[in-house]
This record gives sequence, structure tokens and C-alpha cells, in this order.
Amino acid sequence: MPVVAVVGALWGDEGKGHIVDYLSRTAEIVIRVQGGDNAGHTVVNEYGTFRLHLVPAGVFHPGTICLIGAGTVVNPDTLLQELSELEAAGVDTGRVWISDRAHLVFPYHRQRDELEERGRGDRPLGTTRRGIGPAYSDKAARIGLRAGDLLHRDWLHRRLRQAYAAIAARIAALGGEPPSLEELMDRCEGWRERLKDRIIDTIPLLQEALRRDAHILLEGQLGAMRDLDWGIYPYVTSSNTLVGYAAVGAGIPPQAIREVIGVVKAFATAVGEGPLVTEVHGELAERLRRGGPPEGWEFGATTGRPRRCGWPDAVALRHAAWLNGFTALAVTKLDVLDGLEEIPLCVGYRLPSGEVLTHVPDTPILEQVSPVYERLPGWTGPTATARRWEDLPEAARAYLRRLAEIAGAPVRYVSVGPGRDQILEVDSAEAKPGAASL
Ligand code: GDP
Repeated sequence: MPVVAVVGALWGDEGKGHIVDYLSRTAEIVIRVQGGDNAGHTVVNEYGTFRLHLVPAGVFHPGTICLIGAGTVVNPDTLLQELSELEAAGVDTGRVWISDRAHLVFPYHRQRDELEERGRGDRPLGTTRRGIGPAYSDKAARIGLRAGDLLHRDWLHRRLRQAYAAIAARIAALGGEPPSLEELMDRCEGWRERLKDRIIDTIPLLQEALRRDAHILLEGQLGAMRDLDWGIYPYVTSSNTLVGYAAVGAGIPPQAIREVIGVVKAFATAVGEGPLVTEVHGELAERLRRGGPPEGWEFGATTGRPRRCGWPDAVALRHAAWLNGFTALAVTKLDVLDGLEEIPLCVGYRLPSGEVLTHVPDTPILEQVSPVYERLPGWTGPTATARRWEDLPEAARAYLRRLAEIAGAPVRYVSVGPGRDQILEVDSAEAKPGAASL
């Protein structure tokens, strides 16, 4: 079985948790490859409804190994809390391991995130204030601490002493009260006690698994439009959400990844700031936000913030498909479009000069564009009860075929509700694109 990467094609919140939970039935190992506890992957199954922040969505399958990869940043306090919530619900967390190379998120990272975001006044970036950006910037500045450091006390203390002046100066410059060095050492001691058995070197495990051609799933966080390099900078996350980084974040060779599944929500949503070209407001936005059953409503899984909603954006999907080389799509939340007379699909971005772009430009240009829509017929539904491609209304199939054509990749999974049984596997030749074009 190949290594399969599951990545977000849009602004995040596409339903990756739902798809990974489904796909991990047959996976031996599931690896979260980037991001931190700013994620909120929602999974609805027989154990209940969960918002997973750090633990890979494979945790619900007994026997599946769940790795929190080197490319992530881990807040041990929230991880411990998440593990105990899962255990309280009867989920076995004995196979959740953390890469010794994953960076740690300290309370001072959150403090910095809060102070920096406040300092941006009325132009915030819209971060979740979980300290993710500051932790990644400390990683790049080489003053970060890693999970493996907790296992080596002398080394840890030396690293903390070296980094301390820079850590404290940054907080003080923002007007905050820095923690003392002793406080940090004590905190690390507490984390070491509770997490030491979960911190491992993943390389031997993954080398052995790849030699056997074991089925491994790579779970991305957020989506292409929030990628650090190719998203809507600066309204992006602090890591790369594209599949190119998944190999780095997991610690495997890139050519081991044989499938790249792009998770695409049937319409556009974004939490936080930055341009959202197809954004709608008022009643229409509410209609998209509260479509389908309440567990799928569009409120931030980590912050509870109402998500901004808009019409589907084919230009954004094409951007993601180009950058990720999708081999298949998983389209989620199709049910939310039930009952619409028509589906306006954005196929171009019009510049003030009248020129129409079919790719995502740099942010200062993106801020000026307006959407060019192609109008596809809607359907009456309901699609939530469909279990096969043939059960879907013809207009819904036509919409999915159009998405496949734009992405140049077949639609392999269609989700019509948040439940585990609401994902249809598509093997119809109909769902395969002819040529990738707009
Ligand atoms: P993730 O971060 O990409 O895992 O996505 P989120 O969990 O933040 O957001 C996806 C939301 O949509 C969750 O509340 C899911 O339960 C819900 N969801 C996923 N697929 C479907 C679907 O096909 N239909 C409906 N109505 N809800 C869905």
C-alpha cells in the first residue's frame, strides 16, 4: 500500500479530519506533518464528536500508530489535555507518539502571539493566538526547544540557558512579563515526566514500515491558501501546508508519497483575515454557514469564530492542484449546496483594468480582484442519504465533474454529511477529468 498524503486545497477547514478518520481504517501509521494546536480537525464517529488539535485523526482505529511529526509544533499542555479527553471517551491513546524533532510551544509563545496580535491594532493577522507563529519563528531562529530535548536534562538546561536572553528580550520588548529561567526548567521537568514514553525517534520505525510498503497516511493541516509561501501572505500560517513539506514533516523521502488527495470543500470558507474573493454576506452567508447538521456548521473548531463563507473558487482550487499535484480529490460538504437554484463557480479573477486572471496572484493584487462566475445548475437534493455516485442528482455529478476537470484529478471521495457512513467512494469513470482546464 502506498504512502498517501491528505492535504487541504483551500483555506483550511475542508474536512480533512473527517477524510483522514475514514481513510485510516486501513492505514498502519498516520502522521500529522505540520502545524500545531491551532488545527481543529473535526471527527464524528461512534466515540462521539471530537475536535482534534494535535493528535492525528487515525487515533480512533485500534492498532493504528499515530505520529506527531517533526514538522509540527507541540504544546505539551494541550496535547496532554487532548489525550485525557480521548481516554475519557474510551479511545486508546497508547500508540500516539511524538517525534523527538518536533518543536515545543511554551506559554511564552502564546504570550507573544497575543501581544503581537494586539500590537497589530485594527490590522490583525487573525491568528488563533496559540503561539504557533512565534514557535515556528523561534525554530527558524534556532532558539526553539524540541520534544527530544526533554529527554536529555543537561542538554535541555544548556539550550534553555543559551536561548533564554533572546526569549525574555522578545517578551519584554512587547511590554510583557517574561517567565524566569527556573520556571521554564520546572515546566520542562513536568512535561518530561508525563510525556517521556511518547517521545521517539521516528526514523527507524518509518524506515522499517516503508521497506514493507506499509500503508501510511500523512495528515496535513490548514490548506494551500494559508501556505507560508504560496498562500495569501501575510494572512497565512507559519508552516507549509503543501505536500512538498509533508515529506519533510514526516521524515520520509518525497518519492515515497504516491498519492496526494486534495480535500476540497464544496464552497469557500475562511477563518481569520485576508482576501476571500468569493465572499458572501448576510443571509446567503448564514445559509452556507449553517447548512447541514449542526456538528458541521462553520464556526472555528479552535476559536469558535464564525467562518467567512463564499461561493466555490475554482481559481483557488487550480492553484492548490498545481502546487500539490493532486492525484485525487475528496469533495466535502456537498449536502450544504442542496436546494440552491444555481451554483456560481468562480473561474476567474477580474482586475480593475478588466483583465481576467485564471491563477492566484500575489496578495496586493489579489486584494483588488473581483470574481468572474460560471453558473452551474443546482439540484434539489437531499444528497445526505446518497451512498453511491449514481445516487447523486445529475446536476451534483456535473458540478463534481467540473471540479475534477479544474483540478486535473478525479473525484475519488464525496462527503455528504459529517458521519462516517456519509463518505462515498467513487470509481465511476464519469468522475474522471478529461483535460485540466478552466
Ligand atoms: P478540518 O480542519 O479540515 O478537519 O475541517 P474542520 O473540522 O475544521 O471543518 C469541517 C467541518 O465540516 C466539521 O465540522 C465536519 O464535521 C464537517 N463536515 C465534514 N464533511 C462534511 C460533509 O460532507 N457535510 C457536512 N454537512 N459537514 C461536514
